[in-house]
This record gives sequence, C-alpha cells and structure tokens, in this order.
Amino acid sequence: MITLKTRELGNQVLQTLKAHGYEAYFVGGMVRDQVIGIENDDIDITTSAHPEDVIRLFKRVKETGKRYGSVTVLLENHPFEVTTYRKEGRYTDNRRPDEISFGTSLEEDLKRRDFTMNQLVMNEQGDIIDHHHGLEDIKERVIRTIGEANSRFEEDALRILRALRFCASLGFNIEQKTASAMKEQKKLVKTLAIERVMQELDKIIRGKYHHKAISYLLDLGIADELYGLKSGFEEILKIKEKVYPIEFFIIAHIVDEVEDVFRFSNKERAIIEKAIQLHEVTKEDEFNRFIVYVNKLDMCLLVNKINVWLGYHDQEQIIREIDQRLPIHDVCDLAFKGQDILWKTNLKKHSLIGVIIDELKYKVIMEELPNEYKALEEYALNRVEETLEEMDDNDE
Ligand code: ATP
Ligand code: MG
Repeated sequence: MITLKTRELGNQVLQTLKAHGYEAYFVGGMVRDQVIGIENDDIDITTSAHPEDVIRLFKRVKETGKRYGSVTVLLENHPFEVTTYRKEGRYTDNRRPDEISFGTSLEEDLKRRDFTMNQLVMNEQGDIIDHHHGLEDIKERVIRTIGEANSRFEEDALRILRALRFCASLGFNIEQKTASAMKEQKKLVKTLAIERVMQELDKIIRGKYHHKAISYLLDLGIADELYGLKSGFEEILKIKEKVYPIEFFIIAHIVDEVEDVFRFSNKERAIIEKAIQLHEVTKEDEFNRFIVYVNKLDMCLLVNKINVWLGYHDQEQIIREIDQRLPIHDVCDLAFKGQDILWKTNLKKHSLIGVIIDELKYKVIMEELPNEYKALEEYALNRVEETLEEMDDNDE
C-alpha cells in the first residue's frame, strides 16, 4: 500500500532510468509492505545505472551514500533512494564490505540483501520478481536470511538487530536457522556503532509487536550484549501499554546498572536523569506541592506512570489535583518579583534577592502566604531588613 502520488513519482524515476537504457526496479521495504498490505511511502530503487549517471539524469539529487552506490533523487520534494546494483566483496569488520563493485546484475544485487522478504523487486506495472522465495516467506510470516545465516550475520552484525526490528514491526517469526545463527553470532552486536544500535532499538521498542521481538532478544541472548539493558527488557515485557523508547531507558536505568555508552541528546539525558531522581523520591512517598511545582506536571505524570509499571502505588489523581491547585506554576507568576525588591530597597546584593525570592516561592506554593503583592511585599521587605541587620551585627 502506497499513496498513488508517490507511486506515480516513483514510476517516473524508473521510466527516466529505463529511457536511458538502464534497468531499474522498486525494491526493499515498499515492495515488501505492498505485498503484506501495509503502508510504506519510503521508496528504494535498485538500478544498473552508476551514481554519476543518476546524478546526471535528475535535476535534484543528494549524494547521501555515493561511496556505497546510493543517491537520493528528489521529485516534488519526495525522496527516492536510488542504489546501484552492487556485489559486495569480503567483510572484515562485521559491518561494511571491504570493497563494492558496481554494475553487476540484478541477480547479484539481490543476493547481497539481508532477508528474503527484502529482496523482492517490482516494476512500474506492479509485476514482482522473486529470486529467493520471498513471497512464500511473507505468506508464512517468517524472517529468513538469504543464503547461509551465520555468514550473513558475520558479514554484517546489524542484520541481527534488523531481524528483530522487522519482527517488531510485522509480528513475523524468525525462521529456525536464522534464529540459531543470531544466537551464535550475538557477540558481534558489541562491534556495532552505538548510534546504529540505538536506531534499531528505537524501532524495536516502537514496533507494534515489540513484545514478540523483545522475547526473541532475551531468548536468543542478544540482550546480554546490550550494555546492561537486559533487566529493562524483562521489565517491559510485563507492561501491557505502549512504552516509548525514552520510558524504556528510564526503566532500564532504574532496574539495573546500564553502561554509560548510549548517546542521548542533552534534552533526553536531562529527562532520564530527572526521572530517575524523581522516581527515587516518590516511589514510596507522596508527591507534594513543591515536588509538582519544581518538576512540572508532565514529568510527574511520566514518573508516576513508571512507578505504577514498576509496582508502586498510583498517584495520578493526587498529582493532577495538586497541579490544579498550585497558586503559581513558575517564578514569573509571583505577584511580587525580584525587580520589585530592587526598586523598593537599595539592596546591592543580588544573591540575597535570589534567596528571598526562593523563600517567597516556597511560602506561596505551600500556601503559607497568598500570592498577593501586598502580602509578599511585606514579607520580603521584612526579610531584607532582618538580613541587613544580621550582616551589620556580624560586621561589628
Ligand atoms: P524500512 O521500511 O524500514 O525502510 P527497508 O527494508 O526498506 O525497511 P532499508 O534500511 O530502507 O530497509 O533498506 C532497504 C533495503 O536495502 C532492504 O530492504 C534490504 O534489501 C537492503 N538492506 C538494507 N540494509 C541492509 C543490510 N544491513 N544488509 C543487507 N541488505 C540490507
Ligand atoms: Mg526503506
């Protein structure tokens, strides 16, 4: 299934290539998903044209992976990943082939692809060519490597995680020999760049059938190679609701020692660290007004959800009530502000202003003072006076 417009544009790419004497077919996820009956607008094209030829033939082209034979053709802003037929040489690093030769046949190109369901090709008319029983495997709902499984995973260990990713998105079983080889070659997962591992984990966790993929991940022992995430995976198997990748990482850090190898953005890292701390504070004790104010509603609800998943009591109602009743949600909401202290006094010490504003904030949040100008002014000015007197006393 694919939107008509995208398919038409894809046909144009094929026709242009063919009009210049090259072979060209749709391949990969779009063809596979079309056969299965699910939507995939991400079109991969395989062709006998070399990257330079493709660059020459289309107006807008991005040289995304030219070295490996891939360029992205843009038609009406829609990207088409066009890859030259290739035959891969020896692999020595379990990831990239040492050498790639272009210009071999379609047959050769299909042999180097990962799974039988991913080597189906299709022409503009929708006719499918299937060299490795991909249609049969799709019908049987199995993921099977093309060729001998052990050597295919040895060549490129990313395929181990890709098998799990497709299991998570499609709910297919992993064929017996393929699964045994994944188990046998699992240690190679450690050789993969962490960014690639994270990309695949992200897709595994987001997958509709993530429980199935995670069960394989654990049963085949692949989770042992994933830097301390194993207990986290065991934990999310018990959760019925959808778990987002960031929630998974928070859970994994709570239930076990996770190695510090994962590359999170600063924002993600901050969320993970804050959530772990808040979990520690709230798993046994109640969320209170100050906690809700400081951490904000969304963070509190996130941590509460995780607390519940991990078997602690549900405080969602309390959190929402507290948040609704909070007199302020931010320091800017205070009726009497830092500038007011500056204007009303001849205070030079800005650090003192900060201390007094923190006190005002606390008293307002805890409803010890109303959030009203007069009341806060009186309290603040008294505190300034007291503090200055104390400082004078100390000076003498
Ligand atoms: P998706 O729908 O998620 O894009 P896809 O199958 O199209 O899935 P891509 O990563 O876009 O996956 O790759 C396109 C095709 O290239 C695959 O279907 C497969 O034929 C081939 N391929 C990609 N990565 C590998 C790999 N590591 N080893 C062998 N073949 C691969
Ligand atoms: Mg694709």
